Amino acid sequence: MINIFGQTLPEMTEMLMEWGFPKFRGKQLADWMYGRSVTDFSVMNNLPLKMREKLAAECVIDRALRVDQMDSSDGRTSKFLLNFSDGVGVETVLMRQPYGNSICVSSQAGCNMGCAFCASTLHGMVRNLTAGEMLAQTYYINDLLKQEGAKVDTIVIMGSGEPLTNYDNVLKYMRLMHEDYCLGMGYRNITLSTSGIVPNIYRLAEEGLPINLSISLHAPEDALRSELMPINRKYPMAEVVKAGAAYGNLTHRRVTYEYILIDGVNDNIKQAEELTDLLKGQLASVNLIPINPVVERNWNRPSLKRIGSFEKYLMQHNITVTVRREMGNDIQAACGQLRNRHIEEN
Ligand code: SAH
Repeated sequence: MINIFGQTLPEMTEMLMEWGFPKFRGKQLADWMYGRSVTDFSVMNNLPLKMREKLAAECVIDRALRVDQMDSSDGRTSKFLLNFSDGVGVETVLMRQPYGNSICVSSQAGCNMGCAFCASTLHGMVRNLTAGEMLAQTYYINDLLKQEGAKVDTIVIMGSGEPLTNYDNVLKYMRLMHEDYCLGMGYRNITLSTSGIVPNIYRLAEEGLPINLSISLHAPEDALRSELMPINRKYPMAEVVKAGAAYGNLTHRRVTYEYILIDGVNDNIKQAEELTDLLKGQLASVNLIPINPVVERNWNRPSLKRIGSFEKYLMQHNITVTVRREMGNDIQAACGQLRNRHIEEN
Protein backbone atom coordinates (compact mmCIF):
# COMPACT_ATOMS: atom_id res chain seq x y z
CA MET A 1 0.00 0.00 0.00
CA ILE A 2 1.19 3.49 -0.84
CA ASN A 3 0.62 6.12 1.83
CA ILE A 4 -0.32 9.25 -0.11
CA PHE A 5 -0.56 11.53 2.93
CA GLY A 6 2.54 13.66 2.52
CA GLN A 7 2.62 13.49 -1.28
CA THR A 8 2.66 16.70 -3.26
CA LEU A 9 0.01 17.50 -5.84
CA PRO A 10 2.41 16.75 -8.74
CA GLU A 11 3.28 13.39 -7.18
CA MET A 12 -0.35 12.39 -6.82
CA THR A 13 -1.26 13.69 -10.25
CA GLU A 14 1.52 11.68 -11.84
CA MET A 15 0.31 8.49 -10.19
CA LEU A 16 -3.29 9.09 -11.23
CA MET A 17 -2.26 9.87 -14.80
CA GLU A 18 -0.22 6.67 -14.93
CA TRP A 19 -3.42 4.89 -13.99
CA GLY A 20 -5.12 6.63 -16.92
CA PHE A 21 -7.08 9.31 -15.09
CA PRO A 22 -7.07 12.94 -16.28
CA LYS A 23 -4.82 15.53 -14.69
CA PHE A 24 -7.56 17.47 -12.88
CA ARG A 25 -8.34 14.44 -10.71
CA GLY A 26 -5.14 15.10 -8.78
CA LYS A 27 -6.39 18.46 -7.60
CA GLN A 28 -9.69 16.91 -6.53
CA LEU A 29 -7.91 14.26 -4.52
CA ALA A 30 -5.74 16.91 -2.85
CA ASP A 31 -8.85 18.92 -2.00
CA TRP A 32 -10.38 15.97 -0.19
CA MET A 33 -7.24 14.84 1.57
CA TYR A 34 -5.60 18.17 2.46
CA GLY A 35 -8.44 20.64 2.04
CA ARG A 36 -11.16 18.72 3.85
CA SER A 37 -9.01 16.33 5.86
CA VAL A 38 -10.89 13.28 4.57
CA THR A 39 -9.12 9.92 4.95
CA ASP A 40 -11.73 7.60 3.44
CA PHE A 41 -11.68 7.33 -0.36
CA SER A 42 -15.28 6.06 -0.50
CA VAL A 43 -16.72 9.43 0.57
CA MET A 44 -14.88 11.36 -2.17
CA ASN A 45 -18.07 11.57 -4.18
CA ASN A 46 -16.92 13.71 -7.08
CA LEU A 47 -14.34 11.10 -8.05
CA PRO A 48 -15.46 8.32 -10.39
CA LEU A 49 -16.18 5.03 -8.66
CA LYS A 50 -13.42 3.29 -10.60
CA MET A 51 -10.88 5.77 -9.32
CA ARG A 52 -12.07 5.44 -5.74
CA GLU A 53 -11.82 1.66 -5.98
CA LYS A 54 -8.34 1.82 -7.46
CA LEU A 55 -7.24 4.24 -4.74
CA ALA A 56 -8.69 2.03 -2.00
CA ALA A 57 -6.92 -1.00 -3.47
CA GLU A 58 -3.52 0.64 -3.84
CA CYS A 59 -3.33 3.50 -1.34
CA VAL A 60 -3.99 4.59 2.19
CA ILE A 61 -4.21 8.02 3.77
CA ASP A 62 -2.18 7.30 6.84
CA ARG A 63 -2.50 9.92 9.54
CA ALA A 64 -1.63 9.77 13.25
CA LEU A 65 -3.42 8.19 16.18
CA ARG A 66 -3.65 9.85 19.57
CA VAL A 67 -2.29 7.56 22.29
CA ASP A 68 -2.16 9.98 25.18
CA GLN A 69 -2.78 13.61 26.00
CA MET A 70 -1.90 15.93 28.84
CA ASP A 71 -3.43 19.35 29.39
CA SER A 72 -1.87 22.06 31.51
CA SER A 73 -3.96 23.23 34.44
CA ASP A 74 -4.73 26.53 32.72
CA GLY A 75 -5.92 24.61 29.64
CA ARG A 76 -3.68 26.59 27.32
CA THR A 77 -1.08 23.93 26.57
CA SER A 78 -1.83 20.41 25.43
CA LYS A 79 0.69 17.77 24.71
CA PHE A 80 -0.18 14.80 22.53
CA LEU A 81 1.54 11.48 22.11
CA LEU A 82 0.75 10.47 18.53
CA ASN A 83 1.48 7.09 17.01
CA PHE A 84 2.10 6.20 13.39
CA SER A 85 1.08 2.92 11.80
CA ASP A 86 4.35 1.16 12.67
CA GLY A 87 3.71 1.89 16.35
CA VAL A 88 6.36 4.58 16.61
CA GLY A 89 5.22 7.51 18.74
CA VAL A 90 6.12 11.19 18.84
CA GLU A 91 5.12 14.20 20.87
CA THR A 92 3.36 17.22 19.46
CA VAL A 93 2.44 20.23 21.57
CA LEU A 94 -0.29 22.83 21.14
CA MET A 95 0.26 26.19 22.81
CA ARG A 96 -2.59 28.64 22.78
CA GLN A 97 -0.69 31.91 22.78
CA PRO A 98 -2.11 35.41 22.86
CA TYR A 99 -0.98 35.85 19.25
CA GLY A 100 -2.49 32.60 18.01
CA ASN A 101 -2.23 28.85 18.13
CA SER A 102 1.32 27.63 17.97
CA ILE A 103 2.35 24.02 17.62
CA CYS A 104 5.62 22.28 18.28
CA VAL A 105 6.30 19.46 15.83
CA SER A 106 8.77 16.58 16.18
CA SER A 107 11.05 15.83 13.25
CA GLN A 108 12.41 12.48 14.46
CA ALA A 109 11.22 9.75 16.81
CA GLY A 110 13.70 10.23 19.62
CA CYS A 111 17.01 11.92 18.89
CA ASN A 112 20.68 10.99 18.73
CA MET A 113 22.23 14.39 19.40
CA GLY A 114 22.85 13.43 23.02
CA CYS A 115 22.36 16.88 24.56
CA ALA A 116 22.95 16.53 28.28
CA PHE A 117 19.87 18.49 29.35
CA CYS A 118 17.34 17.00 26.96
CA ALA A 119 14.85 14.21 27.63
CA SER A 120 14.27 13.45 23.94
CA THR A 121 17.66 11.90 23.50
CA LEU A 122 17.63 9.54 26.49
CA HIS A 123 16.43 6.55 24.46
CA GLY A 124 18.35 7.44 21.30
CA MET A 125 16.78 7.85 17.89
CA VAL A 126 14.33 5.36 16.43
CA ARG A 127 14.03 6.89 12.97
CA ASN A 128 13.50 9.99 10.89
CA LEU A 129 9.94 11.10 10.34
CA THR A 130 8.63 11.47 6.82
CA ALA A 131 7.12 14.69 5.52
CA GLY A 132 3.72 13.00 5.80
CA GLU A 133 4.29 12.19 9.46
CA MET A 134 5.22 15.78 10.29
CA LEU A 135 2.20 16.91 8.32
CA ALA A 136 0.03 14.36 10.16
CA GLN A 137 1.03 15.96 13.49
CA THR A 138 0.04 19.32 12.09
CA TYR A 139 -3.28 18.07 10.71
CA TYR A 140 -4.12 16.27 13.93
CA ILE A 141 -4.06 19.55 15.83
CA ASN A 142 -5.48 21.65 13.00
CA ASP A 143 -8.52 19.35 12.87
CA LEU A 144 -9.00 19.73 16.62
CA LEU A 145 -8.83 23.51 16.35
CA LYS A 146 -11.19 23.51 13.37
CA GLN A 147 -13.93 22.29 15.68
CA GLU A 148 -13.49 25.52 17.65
CA GLY A 149 -13.42 27.63 14.50
CA ALA A 150 -9.65 28.08 14.86
CA LYS A 151 -6.53 26.79 13.13
CA VAL A 152 -2.82 26.33 13.55
CA ASP A 153 -1.28 29.79 13.16
CA THR A 154 2.41 29.23 13.77
CA ILE A 155 4.64 26.17 13.71
CA VAL A 156 7.89 25.55 15.46
CA ILE A 157 9.92 22.53 14.39
CA MET A 158 11.31 22.27 17.87
CA GLY A 159 9.96 19.00 19.14
CA SER A 160 12.06 15.87 19.41
CA GLY A 161 14.75 15.34 16.84
CA GLU A 162 17.30 17.31 14.86
CA PRO A 163 15.51 18.65 11.76
CA LEU A 164 18.70 19.40 9.83
CA THR A 165 19.79 15.75 9.95
CA ASN A 166 16.42 14.89 8.37
CA TYR A 167 16.83 17.62 5.80
CA ASP A 168 14.89 16.42 2.75
CA ASN A 169 11.82 15.31 4.68
CA VAL A 170 11.73 18.54 6.70
CA LEU A 171 12.08 20.68 3.57
CA LYS A 172 9.33 18.75 1.84
CA TYR A 173 7.11 19.17 4.91
CA MET A 174 7.62 22.94 5.04
CA ARG A 175 7.03 23.34 1.30
CA LEU A 176 3.92 21.17 1.44
CA MET A 177 2.40 23.13 4.33
CA HIS A 178 2.93 26.31 2.37
CA GLU A 179 0.98 25.09 -0.68
CA ASP A 180 -2.48 26.55 -1.18
CA TYR A 181 -3.98 23.10 -1.65
CA CYS A 182 -2.55 22.13 1.75
CA LEU A 183 -2.51 24.53 4.74
CA GLY A 184 -1.42 27.68 2.94
CA MET A 185 0.97 28.33 5.81
CA GLY A 186 3.17 31.39 5.42
CA TYR A 187 6.89 30.64 5.66
CA ARG A 188 7.22 33.51 8.11
CA ASN A 189 5.01 31.55 10.48
CA ILE A 190 7.39 28.61 10.51
CA THR A 191 10.43 28.35 12.78
CA LEU A 192 13.06 25.65 12.51
CA SER A 193 15.36 25.00 15.45
CA THR A 194 18.72 23.30 15.03
CA SER A 195 21.55 22.20 17.30
CA GLY A 196 23.92 23.59 14.67
CA ILE A 197 24.41 21.22 11.74
CA VAL A 198 26.67 23.70 9.95
CA PRO A 199 26.65 22.48 6.30
CA ASN A 200 22.87 22.26 6.33
CA ILE A 201 22.49 25.76 7.76
CA TYR A 202 24.26 27.01 4.60
CA ARG A 203 22.13 24.74 2.47
CA LEU A 204 18.96 26.02 4.10
CA ALA A 205 20.04 29.62 3.53
CA GLU A 206 20.28 28.85 -0.20
CA GLU A 207 16.72 27.50 -0.38
CA GLY A 208 15.33 31.02 -0.25
CA LEU A 209 12.47 30.18 2.13
CA PRO A 210 11.70 33.08 4.48
CA ILE A 211 11.32 30.84 7.54
CA ASN A 212 12.72 31.73 10.96
CA LEU A 213 15.89 29.98 12.02
CA SER A 214 16.70 29.27 15.65
CA ILE A 215 20.06 27.92 16.69
CA SER A 216 20.56 26.18 20.03
CA LEU A 217 23.69 27.66 21.52
CA HIS A 218 23.39 27.18 25.30
CA ALA A 219 27.01 28.08 26.07
CA PRO A 220 29.34 30.89 25.03
CA GLU A 221 32.52 28.81 24.73
CA ASP A 222 33.50 25.46 23.26
CA ALA A 223 34.44 23.46 26.35
CA LEU A 224 31.10 23.97 28.05
CA ARG A 225 29.13 23.72 24.81
CA SER A 226 30.76 20.36 24.02
CA GLU A 227 29.83 19.15 27.46
CA LEU A 228 26.20 20.19 27.04
CA MET A 229 25.91 19.43 23.33
CA PRO A 230 28.26 16.70 22.00
CA ILE A 231 27.53 17.86 18.42
CA ASN A 232 29.80 20.82 19.23
CA ARG A 233 32.79 18.49 18.80
CA LYS A 234 31.81 18.01 15.19
CA TYR A 235 30.60 21.54 14.50
CA PRO A 236 32.37 23.91 16.91
CA MET A 237 30.69 27.01 18.18
CA ALA A 238 32.59 29.53 16.06
CA GLU A 239 31.55 27.72 12.89
CA VAL A 240 27.96 27.53 14.04
CA VAL A 241 27.86 31.26 14.74
CA LYS A 242 29.57 31.97 11.42
CA ALA A 243 26.92 29.91 9.64
CA GLY A 244 24.23 31.80 11.57
CA ALA A 245 25.71 35.11 10.45
CA ALA A 246 25.81 33.91 6.85
CA TYR A 247 22.20 32.81 7.13
CA GLY A 248 21.24 36.28 8.37
CA ASN A 249 23.19 38.02 5.62
CA LEU A 250 21.79 35.86 2.88
CA THR A 251 18.15 35.79 3.97
CA HIS A 252 17.97 39.15 5.78
CA ARG A 253 16.15 37.30 8.54
CA ARG A 254 17.15 37.67 12.14
CA VAL A 255 18.54 34.45 13.57
CA THR A 256 17.50 33.54 17.11
CA TYR A 257 20.04 31.93 19.40
CA GLU A 258 18.44 29.79 22.04
CA TYR A 259 20.23 29.79 25.34
CA ILE A 260 18.99 27.51 28.12
CA LEU A 261 19.74 28.93 31.53
CA ILE A 262 21.03 26.32 33.99
CA ASP A 263 21.71 27.45 37.52
CA GLY A 264 25.44 27.79 38.19
CA VAL A 265 26.39 26.19 34.86
CA ASN A 266 25.99 28.82 32.13
CA ASP A 267 24.26 31.74 33.81
CA ASN A 268 27.16 33.81 35.19
CA ILE A 269 27.66 37.42 34.16
CA LYS A 270 31.03 36.46 32.70
CA GLN A 271 29.17 34.11 30.37
CA ALA A 272 26.73 36.86 29.45
CA GLU A 273 29.79 38.91 28.55
CA GLU A 274 31.22 36.14 26.37
CA LEU A 275 27.86 35.68 24.69
CA THR A 276 27.71 39.39 23.94
CA ASP A 277 31.16 39.32 22.34
CA LEU A 278 30.18 36.33 20.27
CA LEU A 279 27.06 37.88 18.78
CA LYS A 280 27.97 41.56 18.63
CA GLY A 281 27.03 43.16 15.32
CA GLN A 282 25.05 40.17 14.07
CA LEU A 283 21.47 40.25 12.84
CA ALA A 284 20.56 38.04 15.77
CA SER A 285 18.57 37.83 18.95
CA VAL A 286 18.89 35.69 22.04
CA ASN A 287 16.05 33.70 23.54
CA LEU A 288 16.79 32.80 27.14
CA ILE A 289 15.07 29.59 28.22
CA PRO A 290 15.06 28.78 31.93
CA ILE A 291 15.73 25.04 31.83
CA ASN A 292 12.92 22.59 32.31
CA PRO A 293 14.44 20.40 34.99
CA VAL A 294 14.84 16.84 33.75
CA VAL A 295 14.61 14.29 36.55
CA GLU A 296 17.46 12.23 35.09
CA ARG A 297 19.90 15.15 35.52
CA ASN A 298 20.55 17.33 38.50
CA TRP A 299 20.17 20.72 36.85
CA ASN A 300 17.90 23.48 37.95
CA ARG A 301 16.50 26.74 36.80
CA PRO A 302 18.31 29.86 38.08
CA SER A 303 16.49 32.23 40.42
CA LEU A 304 14.43 34.99 38.81
CA LYS A 305 17.06 37.41 40.02
CA ARG A 306 19.86 35.60 38.19
CA ILE A 307 17.76 35.27 35.05
CA GLY A 308 17.02 39.00 35.27
CA SER A 309 20.70 39.94 35.64
CA PHE A 310 21.72 37.83 32.66
CA GLU A 311 18.97 39.35 30.54
CA LYS A 312 19.83 42.86 31.67
CA TYR A 313 23.50 42.46 30.79
CA LEU A 314 22.65 41.46 27.22
CA MET A 315 20.10 44.25 26.88
CA GLN A 316 22.51 46.88 28.11
CA HIS A 317 25.02 45.69 25.54
CA ASN A 318 22.60 46.01 22.63
CA ILE A 319 21.78 42.36 22.18
CA THR A 320 18.10 41.82 21.43
CA VAL A 321 16.93 39.43 24.11
CA THR A 322 13.71 37.72 25.20
CA VAL A 323 13.01 35.32 28.04
CA ARG A 324 10.79 32.39 27.13
CA ARG A 325 7.43 32.49 28.78
CA GLU A 326 6.70 29.35 30.73
CA MET A 327 3.99 27.19 29.31
CA GLY A 328 2.83 23.79 30.31
CA ASN A 329 5.41 23.08 32.95
CA ASP A 330 2.89 21.12 34.93
CA ILE A 331 2.48 18.71 31.99
CA GLN A 332 6.17 18.04 31.47
CA ALA A 333 6.25 20.03 28.27
CA ALA A 334 10.01 19.60 28.07
CA CYS A 335 10.75 17.58 24.97
CA GLY A 336 10.36 13.87 25.17
CA GLN A 337 9.12 13.42 28.71
CA LEU A 338 5.64 12.09 27.89
CA ARG A 339 7.05 9.73 25.27
CA ASN A 340 9.71 8.47 27.68
CA ARG A 341 7.08 7.63 30.25
CA HIS A 342 5.30 5.43 27.72
CA ILE A 343 8.52 3.77 26.56
CA GLU A 344 9.52 3.04 30.13
CA GLU A 345 6.07 1.71 31.07
CA ASN A 346 6.05 -0.77 28.21
N1 SAH B 1 17.42 19.55 17.76
C1 SAH B 1 16.88 20.87 17.62
C2 SAH B 1 15.39 20.99 17.87
C3 SAH B 1 14.82 20.23 19.04
S1 SAH B 1 15.23 20.83 20.65
C4 SAH B 1 17.67 21.85 18.50
O1 SAH B 1 18.57 21.41 19.20
O2 SAH B 1 17.42 23.04 18.45
C5 SAH B 1 14.34 22.34 20.77
C6 SAH B 1 14.83 23.26 21.86
O3 SAH B 1 14.48 22.78 23.15
C7 SAH B 1 16.33 23.41 21.84
O4 SAH B 1 16.73 24.74 21.99
C8 SAH B 1 16.70 22.58 23.03
O5 SAH B 1 17.96 22.93 23.48
C9 SAH B 1 15.58 22.89 24.00
N2 SAH B 1 15.52 22.00 25.15
C10 SAH B 1 15.79 20.69 25.20
N3 SAH B 1 15.68 20.22 26.46
C11 SAH B 1 15.32 21.26 27.24
C12 SAH B 1 15.08 21.44 28.63
N4 SAH B 1 15.16 20.43 29.48
N5 SAH B 1 14.73 22.67 29.06
C13 SAH B 1 14.63 23.71 28.20
N6 SAH B 1 14.85 23.61 26.89
C14 SAH B 1 15.20 22.41 26.40
